[in-house]
Amino acid sequence: MKLFGTGGTIASRLDYRTGAVIPAFSPGELYGAVPELADICNLTTEKVFAVFSENMGPQQYIQLARAIGEEIENGIQGIIIGHGTDTLHHTASALTFMVQNPPVPIVLVGSQRSSDRPSSDAALNLIHSAYTAGHSDIAEVMVCMFGPTSDEYGFLHRGTRVRKMHSSYRSTFRTIGDVPLATVTRDKVSPIKQNYKPRRQDRQVKILPYFEEKVTILYYYPNMQPDIIDALVDRGYKGIVIAGTGLGHVNKPVYPALRRAVEKGVHIYMTVQTLWGYVHMFVYDTGRDLMDLGMIPAENMLPEVAYIKLGWALGQTYDREEVKKLMLTPINDEITEKEPYNGYLVYQGGVPEVEEFIRKHHK
Ligand code: ASP
Repeated sequence: MKLFGTGGTIASRLDYRTGAVIPAFSPGELYGAVPELADICNLTTEKVFAVFSENMGPQQYIQLARAIGEEIENGIQGIIIGHGTDTLHHTASALTFMVQNPPVPIVLVGSQRSSDRPSSDAALNLIHSAYTAGHSDIAEVMVCMFGPTSDEYGFLHRGTRVRKMHSSYRSTFRTIGDVPLATVTRDKVSPIKQNYKPRRQDRQVKILPYFEEKVTILYYYPNMQPDIIDALVDRGYKGIVIAGTGLGHVNKPVYPALRRAVEKGVHIYMTVQTLWGYVHMFVYDTGRDLMDLGMIPAENMLPEVAYIKLGWALGQTYDREEVKKLMLTPINDEITEKEPYNGYLVYQGGVPEVEEFIRKHHK
């Protein structure tokens, strides 16, 4: 098994003089700090980067994808990637697109609190991820992080449906638009979703390390001005993902700029700011007008995932139909047929069921 270190809080310690979190631990030291890992699997470690995750980007995704491909060819049985939590979900979706059909688990893991603090989630997340990489039957790109309220179990989230949802809680990662892939304890992975891709013994994996960097994401806000879009076109941007309001809308004054962008060959995909649910552009005239302008609805793909996928697709081709086919053909559930009714559960205090749940779990 291989642990790749990229940095983040999981590979950091607190400087007690200044209170700052500093990247310090090497993957090897981390291994030393959590000796339990040795009982779970036989790990080798490699520091690929030492950055906080806001500094990860396409070049790093490509380097990681290639390194993973080599490890798989050489016979590795599972891969763990230590990573900052802030952009863990971007990297997870990039690797889903760049490393296709892996025969073994590829598990991204981070921590919200540095390893030397009593409340750190680093050790438990590492133990869970090591167990997953070493023993799970799920051969997908996953995010392994702290469970919902306690340290009884962790969650495995599918790399394309996960998002960081709280700036400081340890239980920050949520599967969006679905239920999580599985729960994991120190000695058991229990799938929740049954449609996972199982572990295989062959070494066939497709590495597609492409990315067009002239892609951006536009978060719509009321009174957005068309010059924003004009500026992107004039600067040579090839792709724009819009996170629109409601079912996927933007205001009328930007329509001419969008038309011009499409005419100039820019690929524009619509997603929703609500995160849950689908883009529906047939419901209102505004949606139909936008589609006439050439906007393509991205179904229930999360905005960040659509951004990563568009960069990846445009890294391969600028052909409109081919890009559309790549974008709208799901590789691992970035688009799903429906969102399960029990997926959308947002904790809201004051509701009797939730209060009961909290009483039980927070003694
Ligand atoms: N800023 C850090 C990062 O994403 C936070 C963390 O690791 O939790 O690298």
